[in-house]
Amino acid sequence: MSVTKIALVTGANRGIGHGILKSLASRGYIVIGTSRSKDGVSLIENTLKEHKTQGFGTIFDVKDKDALVNLNDKIKEKFGSVSILVNNAGITMDNLLIRMSEEEWSDVVDTNLTSIYRITKEFVKDMMKARFGRVINIGSVVGVSGNAGQANYSAAKSGLLGFSKSLAKEVASRNITVNTVSPGFIDTDMTNKLKDQQKQQLINAIPLGRMGSTEELAKVVCFLASEDASYITGENINVNGGLYM
Ligand code: NAP
Repeated sequence: MSVTKIALVTGANRGIGHGILKSLASRGYIVIGTSRSKDGVSLIENTLKEHKTQGFGTIFDVKDKDALVNLNDKIKEKFGSVSILVNNAGITMDNLLIRMSEEEWSDVVDTNLTSIYRITKEFVKDMMKARFGRVINIGSVVGVSGNAGQANYSAAKSGLLGFSKSLAKEVASRNITVNTVSPGFIDTDMTNKLKDQQKQQLINAIPLGRMGSTEELAKVVCFLASEDASYITGENINVNGGLYM
């Protein structure tokens, strides 16, 4: 890397986001990781220390509109403008549509889609000025395949694909790429919620015969962040062991 680039990862205190934070840190980026708790911030900062990387952990709820500008100001003050944005934070609130409450719908859509509109809008402006940027959105296999019990989640993740492609077209002339990485079944707290029998059924449907690791997912994100991916934009990369082809 010629100039040390600044990466922001939302939901970096556990699961896939923490894997991405570690991988970016080990590649020498300055990394800012967000968490909703103080313990999460400490964990992020310890990880950055272990990797002898610059950056910091900070409290941030992706649904909090007002905290967004402060977050950007804080990063700029300490290091400069973000050039790599990884929109990772996400939730599931599964239910069959006929039982799905307004809250289950809106919480999932707000967290997994509307927040990404807002966060990206805030950070892409400086990328446009810098004439360089990488926006990497974490989607899901169910955004392309659909899944019973996840109408809210798959609608949000599917919406993310349209959002990413449209933005990719808007900002390509400024040397900014916008891509989605869609995980299949990755070993995190999100999938640990499933019952053993459900897990086994899913694993049986995966041609590679196993769950993916956060490291395997993070490597793809790091590739998209790197110079090696300079000619890839508006793309969705499935990282799912063949679950959906
Ligand atoms: P996870 O282990 O449940 O972690 C989710 C992360 O998102 C946590 O850091 C959590 O923070 C954060 N988060 C949730 N709501 C937030 C909010 N309102 N504001 C800020 N942060 C928030 O999930 P994961 O498996 O790592 O998932 C990461 C991403 O991958 C998500 O977008 C998910 O949809 C996607 N994905 C995962 C899988 C999979 O198999 N694991 C498959 C497909 C897609 P707290 O610790 O504070 O809760």
